[in-house]
Amino acid sequence: MSTPASTKRVAVIGGGILGVSTAVHLLREGASVILLTERGLASEASGRSLSWLNSSGERSTPYHHLRLAGVDRYRTLFAADPRREWLQFGGGLMWNAAGQQDVTEARHAYEKSIGYDSKLLAPVDIASVTPGTDPAAVPEKAIFNPGEGWVSLPDLIEFLMEEFHSRGGELVLNSGKVSVMVEAGRTTGVETSAGGTYPADAVLVACGAATPAVVEPLGVKIPNGSPVSMLVVTKQVEHNVAAVLNTPRAALRPNPGGTFALDHDWYEEHITEHADGSFSIPGDVVQELADEASKLIAGNPELKPASWKIGYKPIPGDGEPVLGELGQVPGCFVAFTHSGATLGLIAGELLAGEIMTGKKHPMLSTFRPGRFS
Ligand SMILES: Cc1cc2nc3c(=O)[nH]c(=O)nc-3n(C[C@H](O)[C@H](O)[C@H](O)COP(=O)(O)OP(=O)(O)OC[C@H]3O[C@@H](n4cnc5c(N)ncnc54)[C@H](O)[C@@H]3O)c2cc1C
Repeated sequence: MSTPASTKRVAVIGGGILGVSTAVHLLREGASVILLTERGLASEASGRSLSWLNSSGERSTPYHHLRLAGVDRYRTLFAADPRREWLQFGGGLMWNAAGQQDVTEARHAYEKSIGYDSKLLAPVDIASVTPGTDPAAVPEKAIFNPGEGWVSLPDLIEFLMEEFHSRGGELVLNSGKVSVMVEAGRTTGVETSAGGTYPADAVLVACGAATPAVVEPLGVKIPNGSPVSMLVVTKQVEHNVAAVLNTPRAALRPNPGGTFALDHDWYEEHITEHADGSFSIPGDVVQELADEASKLIAGNPELKPASWKIGYKPIPGDGEPVLGELGQVPGCFVAFTHSGATLGLIAGELLAGEIMTGKKHPMLSTFRPGRFS
């Protein structure tokens, strides 16, 4: 496809949800887009995410508003076709360990105070509000947030990539490590480790937990707080759980194909990092997480792990999203955030708008990378 001289050429580095979403929004706005990623699409955090769509609990007001807008965009996508198995809104159910009812009640009171839909439930009332949970697993009161949902990011990425290709986007898989080219203080494009160069008017670095390392050679420091985490996908099992469950020993959500996705953090000490950068965990620890999850489900069905993936969960050092143009390198933008599933659609939309128009969106004003300079 030939590119008119006036068309903005944008190179996006990173084939996770933030890179893919921004690439598609850029194409919608008329940009010519090349997306390069080190290996395959969804090969890092987006391929092993719990992807609970929410803004529950307490956080900064701008972050809360951005997350609400994030959930709103998923609601729009859901309304277009509620039958999609990979995007569902069955609410979120959470509880704390025994003896922490005051913590649960304080969280519920806070959520009510900001208008976030939040119901405080006794264990016996849970079944009438959301199906499939074993009330015996709930020691005291639980919070149900009816407006929450979940997405399977690999499926969403596949869905968005259909539009990417139909709009003429160019995809480079297995690019190896890509870096940002700069001349006279301005971004001029990207370069692969094999020496391939791709000129561009603007570049987006959406490299997940690797984002700080990719911008460091440009003289930009972004603190990295990304921990190692694991997502387990179970074999198919009969169940009617609709909500995302966040509980003291396991988090779980339904997953396409009648499976579950499981997550938590208590097993982190059992993860070993190897010299080649890969990670492993003993199989009995994975089974222990599956057993903990089984206790949460009505009938306590046996859960068998089918696969598990371990790697970094992208989290900026101060916990807040890092979204926008680098002050030091005009034309180079970054997208690096915790809760990138919830923010995936809205962050892509707002960043594409900034890249195309040069106008800074007010909802991103507190998330700019310049706050670390
Ligand atoms: C276990 C777990 C649970 C989570 N739970 C939730 C949740 O409940 N709710 C929520 O909202 N979010 C959740 N998240 C966070 C969310 O999944 C991530 O924020 C999101 O997937 C990050 O997407 P990304 O595009 O920024 O990065 P990634 O998906 O990591 O993609 C980055 C891509 O960049 C590529 N790359 C890196 N460096 C280079 C380079 N130099 N050159 C070329 N390519 C490069 C990588 O190969 C990768 O493909 C969770 C994450 C994990 C891991």
